[in-house]
Amino acid sequence: MWIHLFSVNTGTVRVPNLKNHMIQNNDIAKCVLTEIYLPPHQRINLFFRIFRFIISVPVMMMMGVAVLNNMYGSTPSTYCLYRSECISDCEEVHFLDSSCEDYNKEIKYNGNTYKDLYYFDYKEGNDDFQTCLDYVDLNSDFPWTSDNSRQWRVHTCFKRFKNGTDSNFDYDPRETFTNETGTNVNDLICIRPSETCEKPAWSDEDCSSGVCISFGVIFASIFLANLGQLIFEAALLYTSSITFKPTDLERKVNPVKTEINFSMEEEPPWDKIIKKCIGEITVAIVFLVSCLCAIASLIGVYDYGRPDTVWAEWIIAIVIDQAKSLLVQPLIWWLISRRCGLVTGTFSSWKDEQVIAGINDDSFMTEIRSQFAHVLESRIFTYGVIGLVVFYACFILLNLSIDIYIQSIPVAVDIFYYIDLCLLIIFVIEIVLRFIAWGFTYIFELWNLLDAAIVLTSFAFSVNHTQVKGIAVLRLLRLIRVIIVMRRVSESKKKLLMLKTQNQSVSSNVTRVLDLLEEILKEKTLTRENRNDLSWIIGQIQSRKLYTKSTTDEDETILTEIDKAWKGKIKLDYEDFSESMPILGQKIGGDKVLKRSRQSSIEMKMFNTDHHVERINTTFTSPSMDREPLEKEKLEQIYETLEKIDDWNWDVLKFSQIADTWCFPILCLRLFLKYDIYRKFEEMNLDKWLNYLSSLYLGYQFNNMYHNHNHIIDTVQATHYFYKTAGFENFLSEQDIMVGILAAFIHDYEHPGLTSQFLIRTKHPKAIRYSDISPLENHHVAAAFKLMDSDGERDLLDFLDQKSYKLVRKMLIYMVIRTDLSYHFDLLSSIQGKIYGENFPQDTLEDRLTVMTFTLHCADLSKPARSWIFYRGWIDAMMEEFNMQGKMEKELNIPISPFMDEENTNRERVQLAYIDFIVRDSIDILNILSPNPDYNNIIQRDLGENLNLNRKTLQKKIEGEVKF
Ligand SMILES: [Zn+2]
Repeated sequence: MWIHLFSVNTGTVRVPNLKNHMIQNNDIAKCVLTEIYLPPHQRINLFFRIFRFIISVPVMMMMGVAVLNNMYGSTPSTYCLYRSECISDCEEVHFLDSSCEDYNKEIKYNGNTYKDLYYFDYKEGNDDFQTCLDYVDLNSDFPWTSDNSRQWRVHTCFKRFKNGTDSNFDYDPRETFTNETGTNVNDLICIRPSETCEKPAWSDEDCSSGVCISFGVIFASIFLANLGQLIFEAALLYTSSITFKPTDLERKVNPVKTEINFSMEEEPPWDKIIKKCIGEITVAIVFLVSCLCAIASLIGVYDYGRPDTVWAEWIIAIVIDQAKSLLVQPLIWWLISRRCGLVTGTFSSWKDEQVIAGINDDSFMTEIRSQFAHVLESRIFTYGVIGLVVFYACFILLNLSIDIYIQSIPVAVDIFYYIDLCLLIIFVIEIVLRFIAWGFTYIFELWNLLDAAIVLTSFAFSVNHTQVKGIAVLRLLRLIRVIIVMRRVSESKKKLLMLKTQNQSVSSNVTRVLDLLEEILKEKTLTRENRNDLSWIIGQIQSRKLYTKSTTDEDETILTEIDKAWKGKIKLDYEDFSESMPILGQKIGGDKVLKRSRQSSIEMKMFNTDHHVERINTTFTSPSMDREPLEKEKLEQIYETLEKIDDWNWDVLKFSQIADTWCFPILCLRLFLKYDIYRKFEEMNLDKWLNYLSSLYLGYQFNNMYHNHNHIIDTVQATHYFYKTAGFENFLSEQDIMVGILAAFIHDYEHPGLTSQFLIRTKHPKAIRYSDISPLENHHVAAAFKLMDSDGERDLLDFLDQKSYKLVRKMLIYMVIRTDLSYHFDLLSSIQGKIYGENFPQDTLEDRLTVMTFTLHCADLSKPARSWIFYRGWIDAMMEEFNMQGKMEKELNIPISPFMDEENTNRERVQLAYIDFIVRDSIDILNILSPNPDYNNIIQRDLGENLNLNRKTLQKKIEGEVKF
């Protein structure tokens, strides 16, 4: 089973500690305990586990023991049983008057000597006598074996008189039959039961204890049973890993798509069906064969053999097999888990979702193959092989040239033969290693095939000592190896040379990247999918589509069309998005939500945290004229979803759903509590914050698939995570933190669901207003400030003095504007520059602001670093929003922006590029920035790992391995 699990990629095994490993790999435990060490889709239900246990241990063992016992004739003993029957019939029951006299002569028959004999006189019409008589004929040509040392002394009775000559009698003292003697022709000479029945079936068999135990039989049957067990388990696991109906877990992971994927409208997954069918047939065949073998052999044993021996050996075999597991399993665990370090991990880090999504650590076999490849490509190995091949070529030439002289000296012949054989063995090993490392891609290369053919044929002839006439030709053929190996080396040298010259040349990085990619493309070990991917990447780079936005041909005609369109329906859609507030307000909660009476405000001068909690709770739950207060139970329910907010894997959508229109105020005010902001700013008016955040919430368009309130909650939480969990709060002041969180809340305010580029190209009023410089971001921050001033109710920063207010405003503007992705590379390079400089970050406003800006930027784009279950949703949302813009662009008849053409965009590739070119570097730098050594690598742990896994998943999706 281990071999199976390690050889398939889906078979990641997790072995946290020896105890669990032992429990999980014990046959009996396996039968009753859940197989948590297996990926969920490979786990088998209780019924199957019991079934598997019955097949794999008792039946397999019985099969082994019974077959082996039948094979080497345990049968004779049953014949011997009749000896006691015959004598009891003769002496006690039926023939009281019978003589049953001793027959004091030895009979040597078929290599055996029978000494303890008696007469058994014929009684007419008696069945028992007849039975004994029958055994005379049955045993006369007993066919067990021709080997005298293993002859069975199975005879029950002989005929009393000679009738002609029987060559099987080595010594025959019986009288010759003559009718005139008056003695009945049917009398028998029978053997007493005390006579040894048989010689041991196996040379090591010990019958001293009454039953004959052979440990040879026991070990052989354990081996046989384990072999059968392996095939059975592998087939069963493999079959169970192919599923059609989504499991509960799969449903949970992706409720919608799993159903669609398995609906009947689609073409049935034939490859899956065929594979599953083959697996199931194998299981059935192994099951049937084992059962039939066991049953047939048992019948045989009961008919002719030694049932006691079979049962005894069976029990011993099971005990030994279990003991063997106890000894072998720690070894496996130690070897694989400790020495190779591959099967690590804990149950708590076992993410079912990832396994379902097809993301696994590399299997053991994959790892071994890559290690082999590494060794084979090493310089030492390559030159070693060249040296050997050259030596071999010289050796063959020498051999051929002085062949005649060699033949005359026997010692020389031997020496040359063994040198030849040794070298060939080394070459065979080399080829086998190459095959293991590269699989069929290696063999399918013509030169390699020829090479392998030459070496293997030579080896075969050499081992057989065959003197074929054309052997000299074959030897000459081996010289071709030199050419093949030299060719292989010269190719890799050419590659190196090319890389070196490219290093020195002045060609741009893009050209070098392209050349390197082309070089990789030539690599023979690549799969077709890899090739396609590489070709796609090369195409993208060559066509310079990577970053350039297709801002082509903004000629007059298009522009007039756009102008017309602006005045038409699209204008209505979002031209007035800065003034859309009241409309949205009515749409969602009516004006009730927006206005909150001042009467309910609570004066709070307490600094105790509990009082702060009470204070904000009262803010939420106190009744007012205009607003439905939040019920206490509901508030508690919302707080409950906030409990894990420090975790990177916090469920944004769950909170968003439960908190509903309250999500912004509750999230913000609870976070402030965590950072003790109320202590610092006791004049803070919670009602104003509540009003402001409620209105802010309404400014996020629900129609946006991506840039809606959920994106904000996600960004705020990510910012909070960076501050709290990753420790950035340590060099930020309370005011900084308040600004950082507020910036996250406002950073996409009144986002139209379109890009800045779109606004610029369509000459949107906002683009005109901000002269095409980050029109969206400028608007977000401007509108957010406008909202503060809209009336006295939302003036949330009124507690700050003028100087502080100015600073806060400056910081907010700076941070929000830089969430524009076009600042990304500037931001990145400036931070990198600072990191390589001295003592960054320091406690200066500039450094703090730089860190805060970068943190917000990272929080804004950190969705690919969320765990896959969340990230997949974000991908859908983001691409949906892109598609909407694409459609709009199509309608306006302007060039469709990159990634926004639904038909020609591969969303996974877009995301891969997004991860590789934007997200990864940012996360890496954030990790370096992480201020406190205690927090080191927390970001790498939480985000980096997800990023890698998500990347793998995306790649698998591109390769079509994961379909939902
Ligand atoms: Zn954003």
